[in-house]
Amino acid sequence: MSVLDSFIAGLPKAELHVHHVGSASPRIVAELAARHPDSPVPTDPEALADFFTFRDFAHFIEVYLSVVDLIRDAEDVRLLTYEVARDMARQNIRYAELTVTPFSSTKRGIPDAAFVEAIEDARKAAESELGVTLRWCFDIPGEAGLEAAEETTRIACDLKPEGLVSFGLGGPEIGVPRPQFKPYFDRAIAAGLRSVPHAGETTGPQTIWDALTHLRAERIGHGTSATQDPKLLAHLAEHRIPLEVCPTSNLATRAVTDLERHPIKEMVAAGVLVTINSDDPPMFGTDLNTEYAVAARLLELDAHGVAALARNAVEASFMDAAGKAALTAEIDAYTAAWRG
Ligand SMILES: [Zn+2]
Repeated sequence: MSVLDSFIAGLPKAELHVHHVGSASPRIVAELAARHPDSPVPTDPEALADFFTFRDFAHFIEVYLSVVDLIRDAEDVRLLTYEVARDMARQNIRYAELTVTPFSSTKRGIPDAAFVEAIEDARKAAESELGVTLRWCFDIPGEAGLEAAEETTRIACDLKPEGLVSFGLGGPEIGVPRPQFKPYFDRAIAAGLRSVPHAGETTGPQTIWDALTHLRAERIGHGTSATQDPKLLAHLAEHRIPLEVCPTSNLATRAVTDLERHPIKEMVAAGVLVTINSDDPPMFGTDLNTEYAVAARLLELDAHGVAALARNAVEASFMDAAGKAALTAEIDAYTAAWRG
């Protein structure tokens, strides 16, 4: 491990773009698969490691769906959520806004109230036992259309769990125009939730404009294509609308052809508030510490530069002012004490 890698490993961090099911590591999947022996997912660690080795996007979807298939009851949801927080604690992630897709579970017959109770139980246990603060972004799986939008909005607004802070939109962008989701975002925003759709990952800058205009996005998931539009970049910088950048994910999904061509440098140069995130870490063979190391390499950062990225995530988060001040102070104290 390089000196900078050890700095990153110990650095207290916040993560803003990471998916619930997409965070299931082989260890967690083995536990879930053991609860459901009829599942085709291997429980043997070696076979599972092989299953999880990223090959291409189609294989990622296959892995993702087989994990979705293992989330069958509220206890699975609780186990997944708590164990994801355990993996975060190991990386010194102190705070995470986890993107949760309740529709995937309610569609499979887990009652909405039981789903919400399970994630909330796990959240409270993770905070007291692991020192990880979890918040939720309930997201619409865009490919499932307006039925999913209606159901997600209903669960978010009617059940409104204590940990819920934001409302998102994921899934494919091509063929799933953002403006159709405006009424659902309007309801979620009226209920006090913040708007954080994915946009501009696999489509051009117009999708990001649509997310800003129609969905009133306060942060953008990915926003990779923003650099194709100087006006948009200037708008994001001026209005302090952060981008949730996930470098390895962008490579895995072919949103960028190679990491060296990732537009993160242009984003930073334009003054955009950039945050570093892992998206679906075990499925893309990464974790948040690795993503920070990638960003440090691409942006040619030393420890102080990496600490500044960690502070960006705190600033761009939906923590209250006291929470932001406390985590920023922790980052600063760690950096000041660092003798790399
Ligand atoms: Zn994502």
